[in-house]
Amino acid sequence: RAKADGRNSVRLFAPSMERDVLHRRELERELRRALDEGELTVFYQPQFAASGEAVVGFEALVRWNHPTMGLISPGEFIPIAEQTGLVTELDMWVLRQACAQAKGWGNTKIAVNLSPVDFRMRDLAVQIGRILEEEGFPPERLEIEITENLLFGNHQEAFASLASLRAMGMRIALDDFGSGYSSLGYIRRFRVDTIKIDRSFTQNIGRSDDAAAIIDCVVRLARALAINVTAEGVETREQLRYLQSVGCNHVQGFLLASPVPLSSVDRYLELARRPVEPTPQRL
Ligand code: C2E
Ligand code: MG
Ligand code: MG
Ligand code: MG
Repeated sequence: RAKADGRNSVRLFAPSMERDVLHRRELERELRRALDEGELTVFYQPQFAASGEAVVGFEALVRWNHPTMGLISPGEFIPIAEQTGLVTELDMWVLRQACAQAKGWGNTKIAVNLSPVDFRMRDLAVQIGRILEEEGFPPERLEIEITENLLFGNHQEAFASLASLRAMGMRIALDDFGSGYSSLGYIRRFRVDTIKIDRSFTQNIGRSDDAAAIIDCVVRLARALAINVTAEGVETREQLRYLQSVGCNHVQGFLLASPVPLSSVDRYLELARRPVEPTPQRL
């Protein structure tokens, strides 16, 4: 009752702000319920060698299968989960699910996204290590995707967690590279194993010479440091051809495969058994 009164009075002064707060609260409560009642599900997007013929891994991407609204994309609820701290529980759930489901997929790499918020937890690496152990998933097959915004600002705790994860044998990918506060120093300092070129660059191939030049440059950089480079958001043959021509070694995008539910992963596992041609060293 008091709540309803309060709601009315606030709405009088700031209708849109009030609506946003309510919407967020409601989503937050719904998300809590979704986690508890098993409405979240994990999709998998295959990642390919540059030839487009062999699968080198799968990225786990969360989906919310809402009873009335249908499939909701993470872009809609991850930010809310981050504001409320629910994101860490969500990420640990996705990790566990991915490990359990992908355990039998041969030697295929699985990539899982972590939020910068997760790294506020001091024992993050310990928790992740425990999940892998409980699920019997080899750390060498797991790649942790982080965004450069995590690294911005020199967070000592994040450094420590990443070092522990690497020490356990996991790999680190720098996601959405070029979209945030990129610093070349991070790549060296964190010894990332993979750079994922943000899809905004990929999608400007053929439209912007600058985007093409930046991609060429990032690929050379990755090569010089002997790390993998994955282009995200590959949607056209032209983009793929360009990426191949500059020596990008991994590609991911709708042209090759969209994220699919567990039940559709099988057809890609066939491609995961294909040998991957060694990428030519350009330097
Ligand atoms: P991301 O990690 O950069 O994942 C790639 C996103 O691009 C995915 O969107 C994928 O479906 C989409 N995508 C893949 N290929 C193409 C393409 O060719 N064209 C276009 N336009 N898009 C493509 P999705 O699944 O909606 O995820 C969005 C973001 O949500 C992810 O971006 C990631 O940052 C976050 N996310 C997803 N799952 C999780 C999770 O379990 N935990 C956390 N913390 N974040 C997650
Ligand atoms: Mg990612
Ligand atoms: Mg990305
Ligand atoms: Mg992205």
